[in-house]
Amino acid sequence: MQDCIFCKIIDHKIPSTIVFENKDMIVINDIAPKAPIHYLIMPKKHIKDVQSITKEDADVLSGMFYIAQEISKKNEKAADFKLVINSGYNAGQRVFHLHMHMLAGKMISASEI
Ligand code: AMP
Ligand code: ZN
Repeated sequence: MQDCIFCKIIDHKIPSTIVFENKDMIVINDIAPKAPIHYLIMPKKHIKDVQSITKEDADVLSGMFYIAQEISKKNEKAADFKLVINSGYNAGQRVFHLHMHMLAGKMISASEI
């Protein structure tokens, strides 16, 4: 997607701090962290939001949870964590490329994300 900031990050056209990357997925540091650990876990495929998910995306989506688990296993500061997806403008989504916020290190309410 031409005008998608996260697609540009995935294509390494915009710099970001990449925490993890494989062929389907990328994890970056949120540029405006709301907790000591604030990652964005996203599929490389441009999917706008949860409303746009199709059956073919099932493996990628379950992979997002496994990546959260892997990150947690490797970092004791992320032993416990919160996952948040804003899906749609009225739910607070501002970047329309599906992503999951992974927050740890501080209790935070979902409405603050
Ligand atoms: P959402 O409101 O759920 O769409 O979340 C978008 C998130 O992307 C926000 O937490 C922003 O701080 C974050 N964000 C926006 N631009 C960048 C960027 N260039 N690099 C990293 N995170 C970003
Ligand atoms: Zn995109």
